[in-house]
Amino acid sequence: MSSIPFIDLKAQYAALREPINARIQRVLDHGQYIMGPEVGEMEQRLAAYTGTKHCVSVASGTEALLISLMALGVGPGDEVITSPFTFVATAEVIVLLGATPIYVDVEADTGNLDATLLEAAITPRTRAVMPVSLYGQCADMDAIGAIVARHGNIPVIEDAAQSFGAEYHGRKSGALSTIGCTSFFPSKPLGCYGDGGALFTADEALAQACREIRVHGQSQRYVHTRVGVGGRMDTLQCAIVLAKLERFEWEVHERLTIGARYNALLDEAGIARIQQKTGRTSVFAQYTVLVHDRERVQAALKDIGVPTVVHYPVPLNEQPAYKDRSPVRPTPVAAELARRVMSLPMSADLSGVEQRRVVQALIGAV
Ligand SMILES: *Cc1c(COP(=O)(O)O)cnc(C)c1O
Repeated sequence: MSSIPFIDLKAQYAALREPINARIQRVLDHGQYIMGPEVGEMEQRLAAYTGTKHCVSVASGTEALLISLMALGVGPGDEVITSPFTFVATAEVIVLLGATPIYVDVEADTGNLDATLLEAAITPRTRAVMPVSLYGQCADMDAIGAIVARHGNIPVIEDAAQSFGAEYHGRKSGALSTIGCTSFFPSKPLGCYGDGGALFTADEALAQACREIRVHGQSQRYVHTRVGVGGRMDTLQCAIVLAKLERFEWEVHERLTIGARYNALLDEAGIARIQQKTGRTSVFAQYTVLVHDRERVQAALKDIGVPTVVHYPVPLNEQPAYKDRSPVRPTPVAAELARRVMSLPMSADLSGVEQRRVVQALIGAV
């Protein structure tokens, strides 16, 4: 039997071939490859979609996080509270700026930062809190917001790289905190065909700072008012996101349907999985289950054409480059999840037949 794709980007392109090709052709015709008209058009569309005032497109999700911290003035001696159970970029940008990541453990059922443990991690040096909306489900942003409000309104940056399109109590991911950062890496819920990202904020001054930092800290041509980076998103990539938006609502709807079907099938089979909280819709950037003896299960599934991926096998506070850069704070839940999580094939084009095959294979393998 043929292998099921882990993410089906070919089917997605096939469905969008016409608008994508037309959008690319238009860029080739006008030739404004850097900061062309599609950049502003995409920023407007995404700001409207998320319900935020400002959207600033940037070169990647990582760059969005870095630029956000730079705009907030985070630097040496500062502490940034984040989750240890995430992609490395989240902590990487903190360390790059000479600040210290402070890891707060995660919830066992969602993998998101445990807001009940946040307050104890705040110190006079805390300059930002960076929760991650893991696997496409928002972290508990209101609970986090209420805690930082009691501590002089410490800025909150939502790492929404996996959650673009998700909702939290009726509001969109990216619009829930001081700054929201997302990624258009091809495999993310809203992907382009290369690297891309965006940040969202309601704060005019922060938006302006981010726009300047994106182009080498430039306020006018060759006037560098601050230190910045080369962090622009290409016009061509913005054009692809614009074309992808044509069926993004449908994709989100499909993802919710596929996620709900996985939930029902797995619950029936008694297989443990990441849970979704009421009031939050996950876009299932990953569909993740919990297994024991994971390597064996993965090998058995691979043999019968069912690919799986582990997000993430090692918490950041145990990674060689990071373990000595933060004060030791035990995060046993993150450690346990890192041992057990396994993501199943997931994309808007995954069929019900394929899904049942995945679940049957999993039942046979665990
Ligand atoms: C993908 C991802 C990033 C980085 O995004 P890039 O566009 O690949 O730089 C950051 N944080 C999380 C949680 C991610 O999943």
